[in-house]
Amino acid sequence: MKSAGEIKALLTISMCVCFGLVQVPLWAEIAGVHIINADNEPGSWLTHARTYAEERYSPLNEIDADNVSRLGLAWYFDTNSSRGLEASPLLIDGVIYTTLAWSHVHALDARTGSHIWHFDPKVPKAWGSKACCDVVNRGVAAWGERLFVGTIDGRLIALDRNSGAVIWEKLTIDPELPYTITGAPRVIKGKVLIGNGGAEYGVRGYLSAYSVDDGTLLWRFYTVPGDPSKPFESKAMQMAAATWHGQWWEVGGGGTVWDSMAYDPDLDLLYFGVGNGSPWNRHIRSPGGGDNLFLSSVVAVTPDNGEYVWHYQTTPGDSWDYTATQHIILADLPIDGTVRKVLMQAPKNGFFYVLDRSTGELLSAEKYTRVNWASHVDLQSGRPVETEQADHSETGKLTQPMPLGGHNWQPMAFNRDTGLVYIPAMESTASYSTDRSFTYLKGHWNTGQSSGDAESTGALSPALMAALTQTLLRGRLIAWDPVQQREAWRVEHSGMWNGGVLTTAGNLVFQGSGDGRLVAYRADSGELLWQTVTRTGVIAPPISYRLDGEQYVAVMAGWGGAAPLVISQASSVNGKNGRLLVYKLGGRKRLPENPTEALKPMPPKEPGSPESVARGGALYGLYCARCHGARAVSGGLLADLRYMQPGVRQLFKEIVLGGIFNDKGMISFADVLNEGDVAAIQDYLNERSRALLEYESSPEWWQAVQTWFFKQALRVAGLFL
Ligand code: CA
Repeated sequence: MKSAGEIKALLTISMCVCFGLVQVPLWAEIAGVHIINADNEPGSWLTHARTYAEERYSPLNEIDADNVSRLGLAWYFDTNSSRGLEASPLLIDGVIYTTLAWSHVHALDARTGSHIWHFDPKVPKAWGSKACCDVVNRGVAAWGERLFVGTIDGRLIALDRNSGAVIWEKLTIDPELPYTITGAPRVIKGKVLIGNGGAEYGVRGYLSAYSVDDGTLLWRFYTVPGDPSKPFESKAMQMAAATWHGQWWEVGGGGTVWDSMAYDPDLDLLYFGVGNGSPWNRHIRSPGGGDNLFLSSVVAVTPDNGEYVWHYQTTPGDSWDYTATQHIILADLPIDGTVRKVLMQAPKNGFFYVLDRSTGELLSAEKYTRVNWASHVDLQSGRPVETEQADHSETGKLTQPMPLGGHNWQPMAFNRDTGLVYIPAMESTASYSTDRSFTYLKGHWNTGQSSGDAESTGALSPALMAALTQTLLRGRLIAWDPVQQREAWRVEHSGMWNGGVLTTAGNLVFQGSGDGRLVAYRADSGELLWQTVTRTGVIAPPISYRLDGEQYVAVMAGWGGAAPLVISQASSVNGKNGRLLVYKLGGRKRLPENPTEALKPMPPKEPGSPESVARGGALYGLYCARCHGARAVSGGLLADLRYMQPGVRQLFKEIVLGGIFNDKGMISFADVLNEGDVAAIQDYLNERSRALLEYESSPEWWQAVQTWFFKQALRVAGLFL
């Protein structure tokens, strides 16, 4: 018995067959055939990266390299959100569906921007403390007349696409554990696929498939083994358990599936990327060694039942947060004279991988950014060859890339015409060291790394590391030839944290930047052709669609995500109001100017003792720095505590211990801090505030410090010459 909707969809398809129509009309419902044949409907954007191959390539060419200079703002939508916007919107039947921070969903008329409906899943704000990398959401999936969204507190919700009404809702996680969902679901063969995040806190990763009809759980693929005294969930888990040692399951093991998926309908294989271990440090996580499958791997399964088919592990025994959750792209490429069905990924570890997607065989792997943890990937064994710089078990090491990776979640794009992959890449260095006193604290940061202001790293002082992170982080757009495995061109950015990428048949590449611009480049040469001011940093990938013969480019603009939480390399624009920005040729709309902030640091007159300031700094590094920034220098996302005003200072104890800002996402730390600790942290913040007021606000001071630290770093590390 088929539902009315299914019959309507079938009618649509058979009409197309009968009349030989080129386009599959979308007045009916989204079904697999629409997404598989997405090129028949190039004006729409039906799934996360437009196609199941996740190319982020638009076949539209009305906007091209010759006329893109006439691009202008058609309309914009104020989201009233001040947190990171990472969503890739969908475009179906003239309507844009997008998501904001805190998992809100909006539907807007794609021609005019007029608002149609809004869905607020009412996530408790305190759940934000479990999100490593901002309370972001990367978008919805569509199937039938339904949309699917994962919420930051672990629910999967089916909405009516026309009204935004809830059809069903499922809790996909154990609410006692610090899981979060930030990724966009995908729908394949009537199954909604959703993973989760949380590996920095201590969880066990998995990917789940739910029925689109009623949310029944159809299968679940765990990525790391559980307690081996209990039965394994699958043969894959039995195989994986042989690569682990110790009591990894007590912390969780990690391996969360928090972003990437792709699907090949001919091979009928679903691919997904697996994240880092819990805790990060392999000497703590799995004493005795082992590859720790399926951490940092690409895994292929059968979508009907979630059965394991193959895997490729990019970073065996990961110890650096080198997730393989980065964007996966499928393409058919000529390799050594033969067209191969490949899978491409540029994971955090700095190598660009080309795999045979039928078998998982490694075809090639080369460095796309500065890498010193491995010299190369051995093509025979498929394994990286680690260097001395990788091992921080005895002494701290300066390792490249840093935990944010050579490439993070920001999607890359593959242009079918140029054959190039455009990577929003980063170059970075971090000091890694083993936390010898690691004890698992349920619900808290559990990476097994000593970091931030907490203590000396063994290699470098915290102050030097802070300056290093200011000085040695680079962001760039790289055009990568995946066949030759080499860079074709690059564009340097002013900061490390920039937007995802769109490429089009108009020989164009679009990317937003952390410094608040949307830019169009020539896809074949990298020449800058057009740019516009976005009034906030852009991290999301643009999409493109066509209505009434007009092509549009749309992007969510809203600064945030992992980097600005912890690194003070803020976007140079102070705009916090996130927006959906939509452009077309001849668009003439203008964005309002940003309001200017007038706060000044106001430290109290009485400083704390040097001992208290030092102790407060260590505690700050442990518990506060990962949201409010190393050395209390905020990246512009959450409060810069150096600017704390007297009224807030009076309430400091109530905020940190009493939890009075719980509903804003600032939870109580009473389980790990006492009143003396809080007083010490306040002394440290007062000292940081005084330093800012007295000398650090001078640009000359910063420049002098950075130059000095840079020279020291060159001498100490001997890495960069
Ligand atoms: Ca991670």
